[in-house]
Amino acid sequence: MSAKTIAATLFGAEDLRVVETELGPLAPGMVRVKFGAGGICGSDMHYFRHARTGDFVVKSPLILGHEVAGEVVELGSATSGLAVGDRVAVNPSRWCGTCAYCHEGRPNLCENIFFMGSASKTPHMQGGFAALFDATAAQCVKVPAELPFQAAALAEPLAVCLHAVRRAGHVKGASTIIFGSGPIGLLTLLALKHAGARSVAMVDIAAAPLKFARELGADQTIDISGGADELAAYAAATPYDMAFEISGTAAGLASAIRTVRRGGRVIQVGNLAGGMIELPANAIMAKELDLVGTFRFGEEFFEAVELIVDNRIDVLRLVTGEYRLEDAPAAFRTALDRSRSVKVMLTA
Ligand SMILES: [Zn+2]
Ligand SMILES: [Zn+2]
Repeated sequence: MSAKTIAATLFGAEDLRVVETELGPLAPGMVRVKFGAGGICGSDMHYFRHARTGDFVVKSPLILGHEVAGEVVELGSATSGLAVGDRVAVNPSRWCGTCAYCHEGRPNLCENIFFMGSASKTPHMQGGFAALFDATAAQCVKVPAELPFQAAALAEPLAVCLHAVRRAGHVKGASTIIFGSGPIGLLTLLALKHAGARSVAMVDIAAAPLKFARELGADQTIDISGGADELAAYAAATPYDMAFEISGTAAGLASAIRTVRRGGRVIQVGNLAGGMIELPANAIMAKELDLVGTFRFGEEFFEAVELIVDNRIDVLRLVTGEYRLEDAPAAFRTALDRSRSVKVMLTA
């Protein structure tokens, strides 16, 4: 059946409107999901402010949202394992399962991937900040009825962090430092603690997120708004084993390279502004560093759902605000204010 819905749609920079839209009949293999909750991500905020994030540019109206959970309301033909009324965490990645990268076990690198609410491809794949949206059955991971939708929606950003920690290699016993204390930085902190890191230091240019990081268990927080002298002193005394660049800034990546020990590892999680940047690249050679990239996630999505369902990682501790889907523009403005927001959620 066709259905009318409303969706938080980006028409251009700073032009986010909740508009009515029409969903066609469900295609085979697809399920229709009623929105339960959605997290506003840093990339959503980049789209909101600049109509782009990194190298992905919005060319036509884009429904935002890739951290979503909801309830199955209709099943298309050729779907199995789900029933109407099931609550699901929705994996925003739809990978092909047949290309060389999928076969290699790296589906986040899939040549034919579609990702909800992303302008990485044209036409863009629409996102999940909509009262009703469609996903493949494979994208929908059933969760217990008592799990809050908000917790299920945060499986996506947690999966990003689990993947980053996997790409970091031997984190057990490691001293680590994270540049950028936003939601991804904070979830990486929780993921590193869960994986047995010896210590996690967090860096930011704002006081409020660092205070939040301490409450979440960061061993050390370093405010570099006034300069990086304190950070340089720490790093000179006891260089970190690995550094996670999550701020999405060239300065963060340069600091990450400077603060890890010889033979250390730098993991680039943040999405830098597009184009060329300057780096102290010789240090990669002279300290024999491993510089690794990490992009979205693969099977870690399912692991993230399990960790949340079993309450081994309490993602709800990050939530600082809640708005109805209809009030998405106001929610985005609140989310942009880092002095009072960590994770802002949209709810049905
Ligand atoms: Zn995200
Ligand atoms: Zn593939």
